[in-house]
Amino acid sequence: MESRFEQDLSLRSKPVKELTLNEARQEAEKLRREIEYHNYRYYVLNAPVISDAEYDELFRRLVEIEERFPELVTPDSPTQRVGAPPAEEFGAVTHRLPMLSLDNAFNEDELRAFDERVKRMLGLSPSTSVEYVCELKLDGLAVNLTYENGVFVRGATRGDGITGEDVTANLRTVRSIPLRMLIDDPPPFIEVRGEVFMTVRDFELLNRQRVERGEQPFMNPRNAAAGSVRQLDPKVTAERRLDIFCYGVGHVEGISFETHWQALEFLKRAGFKVNPDNRLCCGIDEVIQHCIDWTERRHEIPYPADGMVIKVNQIRYQELLGTTAHHPRWAIAYKFPAEQKTTLLKDIIVQVGRTGALTPVAVLEPVEVDGVVITSATLHNEDQIRRLDVRIGDTVIVQRAGGVIPEIVGVVKERRTGDEREFTMPKRCPVCGGEVYKPPDEVVARCINPTCPAKLENWLKHWCSRDAMNIEHIGPKLIKQLVDRGMVSDPADLYALTRWQLMGLERMGEKSAENVISEIEKSKTASLDRLIFALGIRHVGARTARILSEHFGSLERLSEASLEELMNIPEIGPETARSIYDYFRMESTRELLEKLRKYGVRPSAVEKVAAPVESPFVGKTVVFTGELDSYTRSEAEALVQQYGGKVASSVSRSTDLVVVGRNPGSKYQRALELGIRTINEEEFLEMVKQAKGTMGE
Ligand SMILES: [Zn+2]
Repeated sequence: MESRFEQDLSLRSKPVKELTLNEARQEAEKLRREIEYHNYRYYVLNAPVISDAEYDELFRRLVEIEERFPELVTPDSPTQRVGAPPAEEFGAVTHRLPMLSLDNAFNEDELRAFDERVKRMLGLSPSTSVEYVCELKLDGLAVNLTYENGVFVRGATRGDGITGEDVTANLRTVRSIPLRMLIDDPPPFIEVRGEVFMTVRDFELLNRQRVERGEQPFMNPRNAAAGSVRQLDPKVTAERRLDIFCYGVGHVEGISFETHWQALEFLKRAGFKVNPDNRLCCGIDEVIQHCIDWTERRHEIPYPADGMVIKVNQIRYQELLGTTAHHPRWAIAYKFPAEQKTTLLKDIIVQVGRTGALTPVAVLEPVEVDGVVITSATLHNEDQIRRLDVRIGDTVIVQRAGGVIPEIVGVVKERRTGDEREFTMPKRCPVCGGEVYKPPDEVVARCINPTCPAKLENWLKHWCSRDAMNIEHIGPKLIKQLVDRGMVSDPADLYALTRWQLMGLERMGEKSAENVISEIEKSKTASLDRLIFALGIRHVGARTARILSEHFGSLERLSEASLEELMNIPEIGPETARSIYDYFRMESTRELLEKLRKYGVRPSAVEKVAAPVESPFVGKTVVFTGELDSYTRSEAEALVQQYGGKVASSVSRSTDLVVVGRNPGSKYQRALELGIRTINEEEFLEMVKQAKGTMGE
């Protein structure tokens, strides 16, 4: 390969200003190939052949040439990886071949059932060993990379599988994505599928930086990768350390493969990063053994992987097996079982929430579960502690619920020494010393001091949060300072803060103070539903806030609503109605609303489309049939509306999407008749996740 980069030193030694246009064109072209190759050695193979200084020199020379001859700059030039201007929004890209999601297997039996189905459908005898390719299943963001004549022309997210977002400029910044394929005879058109991810280490590093800057940490590496790719400003993406593994091809022209393994080999040769741990297995027994081995070694994997993807190797078989409406029949995803670890419970502390709720939290000896270090876990309430019979000093079993939130699932009682201490909820608020009250019919104890600083801090956090007033740059540390110094005694006081006051605080320069003020200023015209949610009325979540804002149209109307009127809103239960009614009758509420008005907080009418255009629901008419496990029907419908879609009650030609739950009715039949796209619950959840992601960063 190196032979292609023989150096024409006579040319290279010439100062750029003496180059003719023709010489410059030739040299620029050569430099680009050279740089891309070294890039590949460094980022894909992890085996550089030149020093960083030599690389920098090549790069500098190319920049110099392109500066003198701007007409020579090509989009696939390595100098163009970073520097695209921020986008207003992401365009839509339709995948030439849909990107389907995979069916799941959770144990050995389900893998065997998959193998039997494959053989039955192919008409193979049960004793045949089918060839399968096993690939570690990354938990990142699936993307589709389009190359025309070997040049990277378009990168898109998976989106709903049919249409994704155009994130070309952002993907260009990922160094392990070749801007040009490293082969001499590239196919005229090829879609390359891959998963963009962040290693666990880079994820932790990024979160540490975010916390230091007072920003929300990402929940997990998947969110971090997705959030980083979905940045309107590619410069932000470029700062994040993203990587990719390519795992397949979509629509292809001018080249064909007999096996999936061959396609992977081709990708490797063309300069793509392909997971070196991929494995070709003969028969399901080998696949199962491979899955077992990796389940045991999973915590050694330096990137987020939550299972194994198993694909039928022969492309002819894949074509014969085809796809269902949702999944290819030739592939399945084996999910690693939730990992459980034991660790020492060092202490139980009590946190005070926005509503004054006291939550016991276990302080744990740090332990790594599913690749993430866990140092604490919520115990929810006193009843939960009694149920688990957990004591301070116990060895406890922890796992991450849904792969994310750490929880304690049991106690290893055999390890007790007798020194363990039972925990009792404090009678006084651990923050303000105020009285704690637990109604006899509730599980939650609350601090009832209305001016408890813990409540205020959490209320302010809630007020600034994304679904509420969405005020950025106000992190927990700043809030704590504002409360400790008495600068803020309710959220309305935020609107009276001045730049000068803020500049007196720790780690607050003129620029950051200005940012905070302008963010606060911006939130004055947030939509009404956000303001209602931000008030933190008990039982009023983001969804209820939206219903209220649509029903009443103004805060004045809402605050004057009678109990009866509230009760008459179909989606609002009696308990919630009572809570809203009582809230607006309190003296402190009247004062707060008066103050907000005085400081110029004027909520705008309801945002018709709160969802940004890249949400997969935007402009879509969605119909539900059957039951969902994760949401009630009205919750699911509210989500669609929240993220920019419309909900209809019956299927017609104008329906875009039918979500099919358990025991679907005639609407499902109708959708099939009309050829309308149907998705299952899992795919719906995935769309919601994406929509949420687009509301994220
Ligand atoms: Zn308190």
